Amino acid sequence: MQRQDLPYQIHRLPNFHWPEGKRCAVAIGWHVDGESAPIAGDPRNARHLAALSEGAYGLSTALPRLLDLHQELEVPASFFIPGYVAELHPESVRQVMAAGYEVAHHGYLHENVFTLDEAEERAVFQRGTQILTALTGQRPTGWSAPGWGLRASTLDLMIEMGMLYDSSLMEYDTPYLVETPRGSLVELPISLILDDWELFGGSLFPNGGGVNAPVDHAYQIWRDEFEGLRFYGGLFTTTFHPNLLGRPSRIRMLHRLFSYMKSFDDVWWGTYADLAAYVRAQAENTAADRHSG
Ligand code: ZN
Repeated sequence: MQRQDLPYQIHRLPNFHWPEGKRCAVAIGWHVDGESAPIAGDPRNARHLAALSEGAYGLSTALPRLLDLHQELEVPASFFIPGYVAELHPESVRQVMAAGYEVAHHGYLHENVFTLDEAEERAVFQRGTQILTALTGQRPTGWSAPGWGLRASTLDLMIEMGMLYDSSLMEYDTPYLVETPRGSLVELPISLILDDWELFGGSLFPNGGGVNAPVDHAYQIWRDEFEGLRFYGGLFTTTFHPNLLGRPSRIRMLHRLFSYMKSFDDVWWGTYADLAAYVRAQAENTAADRHSG
């Protein structure tokens, strides 16, 4: 087996550099799973009022506070919202848009597409896109995989739908391109160290457990990872969940963390869509240089 036999290829940009000569980049991603995650974990949870209400906390209580935090500290953000959650909370989607942030694709019912056949996967992408487009007036340009389920057909589908980026893979910590015979996408890589589920996944469903780290523990891990990424010129992307990280003590911790990160003037901040557009333009300029040179 050799890498060229894989169903997708990786293309890294030669001489990749961050916008405006910055040293590293931060793109804050929220996975607004709401009521969808418990139902995706077990359809019987559609009748489990406590589990549903725990998810709804992320929309009803946490999201307005999180939007205030982002506005106060001028931190751009991208909100990955399943279509089902957008239908239940259209006003929340409008609030995100009104605040000037990105609404991105996160499936319909938080499906792990790795478990679907290709027709089902296509239906999920189309349904999520239709719902978000109707609510926001804009087609979502990017996707992050619920449950990190992703395969070659998913990349092909996103390319066919004209999407710009995926944010689910982990091979590098700077943006790169993933290419299939159908075309290419910008990959904005994620990491589990910046996923709040690893520290605060004490929810009822799915995989309910008693994980409730002290906030200072999370602050230390995320601050240190930011410093490491800044040293190496990497990309700080987050997988934050409003129903977990939107608890009051954790929002206050996030205020401290963002304030610290904002104290450096060599960091580029933007949405995933902004960053993906920048990477795509840089890839095209590089290709043009190659042709003219
Ligand atoms: Zn999710």
